[in-house]
Amino acid sequence: MKYLVLLLIVVGGIWWIRQQRRPHTHTNKPSGPQVMVPCAHCGTHTPESDAVRGTQGTYCSAAHRDAHEG
Ligand SMILES: [Zn+2]
Repeated sequence: MKYLVLLLIVVGGIWWIRQQRRPHTHTNKPSGPQVMVPCAHCGTHTPESDAVRGTQGTYCSAAHRDAHEG
């Protein structure tokens, strides 16, 4: 009976830890605010994930990349 109580405490502890960790493992997005990068052509700040990368920097759109880099 003594070991059964101990087992319940251990299982309960593991369950509690899993409950605490769940919110962190549920979100796959990186922590912190979205990184904004300026357009090398017009200076507009665009989220890094949406920015167009060129040889001379990052741009808000492919049109500005083409206009800036020729
Ligand atoms: Zn631009």
